[in-house]
Amino acid sequence: MPGNLSFDDLKSRVTDGSIDTVLTCFVDMQGRLMGKRFHAVNFVETSFKETHCCNYLLATDLEMATPDGYASTSWEKGYGDYVMAPDLSTLRTVPWLEGTALVLCDMLDHHTHAPVPHDPRAILKKQVARLRDLGFDAMMATELEFFLFEKSLDEIRASGFRDLTPISGYNEDYHIFQTTKEEGVMRPIRNHLFAAGLPIENSKGEAEAGQEELNIRYAPALDCADHHSIAKHAIKEIAWQHGRAASFLPKWHRDRVGSSSHVHQSLWQGDTPAFFDKDADLGMSALMKNYMAGLIAYAPDYTFFLAPYVNSYKRFAKGTFAPTKTVWSIDNRTAGFRLCGAGTKGVRVECRIGGSDLNPYLAQAAMLAAGIKGIEDKMELSPPTRGDVYEDAKAADIPQTLRAATGTLRNSAFLRDAFGEDVIDHYTRCAEWEQEEFDRVVTDWEIARGFERA
Ligand code: ADP
Repeated sequence: MPGNLSFDDLKSRVTDGSIDTVLTCFVDMQGRLMGKRFHAVNFVETSFKETHCCNYLLATDLEMATPDGYASTSWEKGYGDYVMAPDLSTLRTVPWLEGTALVLCDMLDHHTHAPVPHDPRAILKKQVARLRDLGFDAMMATELEFFLFEKSLDEIRASGFRDLTPISGYNEDYHIFQTTKEEGVMRPIRNHLFAAGLPIENSKGEAEAGQEELNIRYAPALDCADHHSIAKHAIKEIAWQHGRAASFLPKWHRDRVGSSSHVHQSLWQGDTPAFFDKDADLGMSALMKNYMAGLIAYAPDYTFFLAPYVNSYKRFAKGTFAPTKTVWSIDNRTAGFRLCGAGTKGVRVECRIGGSDLNPYLAQAAMLAAGIKGIEDKMELSPPTRGDVYEDAKAADIPQTLRAATGTLRNSAFLRDAFGEDVIDHYTRCAEWEQEEFDRVVTDWEIARGFERA
């Protein structure tokens, strides 16, 4: 069971007074938990069936603006309601908040109760169902990288985001001593999430001062995305409770390494790993090769879902482990796709392109759709790349800017087919708006460069 609380458990915990609040949440386009805090008595009596929210929430940006250009919702249409339908299988305790439980919701049309097609959970469910029709289930793991800062989010905001001192003074990749100093924040993150029913594997220091990674055990795709969203939310909240800031901005400083979210993927038939063929080279089944061929060929189409903001593209710098090439390699961290667990039942592909700001539902759905296309079209996998892929001039690049990724998304016949025209139009608008907002801004860099000297 994905959550750690049945509805009956919740009712008894409400009766004995140990739970008084139910966070009733959905995941927005940016991958954030949004929703309401219900009194638990109201939730178990009525609101467990459904509640409502304004439908602008799946057509807004990080600032909660109301951009024009969305077909599904607008001022003209009056910004009506969606139904939030709690998925009771996701019910769990929130051990880092007193007396609190959490449930994730699916978004439904207010009148027809049909799933809202651009709801990130609905988008992933659709691709999981397509894969199931082919006879497979996807197991996924998304790694969470982020930075911890000395000050709290509130203090940093008050400083105009100038006072950015990472929690540690040096590169802490795999360091035990440095990460011991950070246990005040990281230990509660691991333990509270574990107690909330997330299969936490470990945390570790990453390759930059103040950079952390949290690994969660692989799980069926939808559970993996739920885990990711809850964990990201918890990391920010728990860091905040301890007077520190956690940031998932992929590139917060030009000279510092960026944060990513690598996505491990494998297909299964029941308990049988469908990517594994013990007699094949590297243990890669024909199915795995087809899947990977699709994943690689369509990477430019779905780059927006791995890198959704202007800042996401600042991470793609040579020599930083952030890859930009649509090639695969065997246990080589400079390629966009890395083969892991070669020759074993754990054989899988890791996509290393995505930033820490990706929405896990959208990223996984896009990659599953690409893999399904590879399987359906029996696409052929090219040989692996060797050596430093950054220096491989022949290897194809993913789009290098949000503007370019918006174009490949808009024109992707494959994604329009897999996700639906309306969904791709919706997310193309989301991408365009982000660029338009950025284009309106006069940056500090322009002023410092040109104020006197231009
Ligand atoms: P790395 O060196 O990239 O950190 P790890 O061995 O820590 O690699 O594994 C990374 C992630 O891969 C873990 O979260 C793990 O749960 C996941 N993983 C392991 N086996 C599979 C699999 N068969 N399919 C998908 N993910 C898997």
